[in-house]
Amino acid sequence: MCVVGGGICGLSAALELERRGKRVILVEASEIGAGASGRNAGYLIRGAADNYAQACRAYGRGRAQELWRWTEANLAALLGEGAAELPGFEMRPSCLIALSEGEEGQLRESIELLLEDGFDATLLGPTAGPDDSLWRRGKVRAGLVNPGDAVCSPIELVRMLRGRLASARVLTGQEAYTIEGEAEGVVVSCSDVRVRCERVLVALNAYAPALVPSLRGRVTAHRGQMLAARPLGGDARLEMAYYANHGSEYFRPGPEGTIVFGGARTYFAEREVGCAPDVTAEVQDRLEAFVRELITDRFEVIARWAGTMGFSGDGLPLVGAVDVEGVAPGGAWFCGGFTGHGMSMAFTSARAAVGEMLGGATGPFPIDRAMPGEPRA
Ligand SMILES: Cc1cc2nc3c(=O)[nH]c(=O)nc-3n(C[C@H](O)[C@H](O)[C@H](O)COP(=O)(O)OP(=O)(O)OC[C@H]3O[C@@H](n4cnc5c(N)ncnc54)[C@H](O)[C@@H]3O)c2cc1C
Repeated sequence: MCVVGGGICGLSAALELERRGKRVILVEASEIGAGASGRNAGYLIRGAADNYAQACRAYGRGRAQELWRWTEANLAALLGEGAAELPGFEMRPSCLIALSEGEEGQLRESIELLLEDGFDATLLGPTAGPDDSLWRRGKVRAGLVNPGDAVCSPIELVRMLRGRLASARVLTGQEAYTIEGEAEGVVVSCSDVRVRCERVLVALNAYAPALVPSLRGRVTAHRGQMLAARPLGGDARLEMAYYANHGSEYFRPGPEGTIVFGGARTYFAEREVGCAPDVTAEVQDRLEAFVRELITDRFEVIARWAGTMGFSGDGLPLVGAVDVEGVAPGGAWFCGGFTGHGMSMAFTSARAAVGEMLGGATGPFPIDRAMPGEPRA
């Protein structure tokens, strides 16, 4: 079997294939974790970007519940791989904060639905937050706490998964250019090698349509930008990992008293597309404005970076066989479209993809499902 892509998804898939007794070659264009998996915010959060009430409306209650359980299982599985031993890993509650009346109403609705559906969660009022530097600014109307969430250093996590591989061959610096069919299976042509295999699993998330044209329009590339700030003065400390404005902005404590802050993409959404991982002044200025508004006026920015996310049409992962000209049906597969949440979803999704690829299991995120705005089959 061949896996293309050395991010969290490809590594998780390779691990699962190996554990099911398959011989695996993983090809990565650059280095392990070179894509979004090595440059994200490190939230291992339950659920999706938006709150549970919104997810119930968008997907139906049963499906929202399934998605929330899926992300809980993802964290449990990463803990099973030893994530808790990593220096940058912490069990740290996440908190969705409402800055507007509308979002406050949704968080109040969400807490009721979550508790009814058997999830552990609490709701904080406008004065009850543990993080004084945030709450005393008077902007937060309510906060929904997921007590079982965690954060990690994403590059440590992907390197840990790489280290768990025993027999798989990992070839870095090998960009896959084409996938072609042949009598016995599939050939993946890369920079210096050609990999002959029974089947290929494309774990390229945002980069996938360049290799698999049938994914164009199914997976779209969006840039996420971040910064790390060092507060100047001792009053800006955070205990939880925060999500604000329906997940548009997020901030959490980083190493050595720093604060990691990301988002603001939605204000420039038409320009924040494509695979170029560059920072831009307009988004970075907006992020700095959020730091001032929500946390502290006195800080220095010590790092800025960007990465590329792959979005699906409905915000849920895409898992399944894909059409590649000349390749027999079932020869080429895709797992991705994590819509900004791959750290929280990719391990379980990759496991499901392998289950489907090897036959038998049917997963919850079929790639050929109708997306919003598309006619139903
Ligand atoms: C700024 C930012 C913050 C984020 N924060 C979070 C967060 O806190 N929590 C969370 O759950 N998610 C977060 N995400 C999303 C998360 O990082 C992604 O969903 C996840 O990393 C996707 O993993 P992947 O393995 O599918 O793709 P990627 O990590 O993008 O891996 C794809 C790999 O394929 C390689 N590649 C590309 N083309 C080829 C080719 N032709 N041949 C071979 N290799 C190729 C790339 O080099 C890359 O290593 C964030 C993303 C960004 C950008």
